[in-house]
Amino acid sequence: MVQNAAKPNIIALENIGKSYLQPNGQTISIIENINCQLQVGEIIALLGPSGSGKSTLMRMIAGLIPPSSGKILYYNRQLMGLNPGVAIVFQNFALYPWLTVLENVELGLKAKGEPKDTRVPKALRIIDVIGLDGFENAYPKELSGGMRQRVGFARALAVEPELLCMDEPFSALDVLTAENLRFELLDLWLEKRIPTKSILIVTHGIEEAVTLADRVIVLGRNPGRIRADLSISLPHYRDRKSPEFQALVDQIYKILTNPDLPDVEAEESTTSTTSSSVPVPSQPKYQSLPHVRIGSVAGLLEILEGRQEKDLYRLAQELLLEVDDILPILEASKLMELVVITEGDIQLAQIGEKFINSSIDERKAIIRDRLQKHIRLVQQICQLLQAKRNHRISEELVLDLLENHFTSNEAQRQLRTAMDWGRYAELYSYDEPAGEIFIEESNAESEVPESLHF
Ligand code: ADP
Repeated sequence: MVQNAAKPNIIALENIGKSYLQPNGQTISIIENINCQLQVGEIIALLGPSGSGKSTLMRMIAGLIPPSSGKILYYNRQLMGLNPGVAIVFQNFALYPWLTVLENVELGLKAKGEPKDTRVPKALRIIDVIGLDGFENAYPKELSGGMRQRVGFARALAVEPELLCMDEPFSALDVLTAENLRFELLDLWLEKRIPTKSILIVTHGIEEAVTLADRVIVLGRNPGRIRADLSISLPHYRDRKSPEFQALVDQIYKILTNPDLPDVEAEESTTSTTSSSVPVPSQPKYQSLPHVRIGSVAGLLEILEGRQEKDLYRLAQELLLEVDDILPILEASKLMELVVITEGDIQLAQIGEKFINSSIDERKAIIRDRLQKHIRLVQQICQLLQAKRNHRISEELVLDLLENHFTSNEAQRQLRTAMDWGRYAELYSYDEPAGEIFIEESNAESEVPESLHF
């Protein structure tokens, strides 16, 4: 991984894994084999699709939860329990409504045992630095979202953490407030008005990551792992319209939208897109369905029809879609092989073109065929239904099967998505009161391909 001999490591992650024991006794692996170092003087962005383990990794670094395997070193000493050098800023501000701004900011200092006579001046100083002076005695409900998050920052910074961790700190704010706060934070950091040695920000915004970070670590899912570790040495303040900035955004977009691309690791201090390949990505152990409706997939295919612009990033920009919004739709379209994605470009597959020019019934038949050919969970449900004489199975049977691979919540969501897709394609129906999946009598024999009979 990227390492600079001149800068000491504040955190080192050695073969970190995290797994959870399921109610059925199975162990589910959430994160596997994470190796990296966070160095003094860096802003590091942790980027990845939802469920890739970003928050879990941050919580492990903060010592809020232990890893299941591997070691976390804080200044070269193994971390046991809470990390004394970390403070966290949360997405939803996490303020106490019955405490004033000053009292909220004092909290961290109080927890560290700071006596009142030094605690109050320290809290007041940071309140001033963060632009909250005049609001010391206000309650959170009197403040706007942006001001509340300033309190969140002030509370975290008051304890002068070595490592400031931020979990999507700007995502609950409106666009302009978020932009303003982002730059104010960058000012504080660049002008060294805060003693913090390093900042770790969890985000799903590619532009946010490239705007702020010296290094972007891209995580993949199933299991959570590092797919790329890119250094960014563009000088601050970065021009979002510059070709170098756009090239980096494009590169990260490509990695995120191509789960099949080999994982990459950047060379030290790239200004643009230099990266060197490392071996084959670890393959997901079980196909995971993105949670989107077939209607969204159809919407994407219709938008692609007759378009000249094939670049995914520009397409998403045009549609005002964040990567997190478009990623699951892309994944679903790709799983069903309705589109072809190469590097950062997308185009309709032949069957995708056919889909757009079809009637509703023909569209259903196309999706039916796609599901039967490419979607493992749908295949398994069909197989189970065919194996039962009355063509009915309890949803619990499917959930049991899924809980070998997913957490209980995720298993529920996987089942719901497979139900949505299968019902659209008229492969099976759902008897909600009974919690049973069944095949309508008229479909019982005809809808499942030969290969699935046993
Ligand atoms: P991200 O922040 O990238 O969205 P998370 O770290 O929140 O990802 O979660 C990663 C995965 O771990 C998800 O599938 C989530 O359901 C699972 N997970 C997180 N916490 C727990 C827990 N306490 N028990 C079981 N599974 C969990």
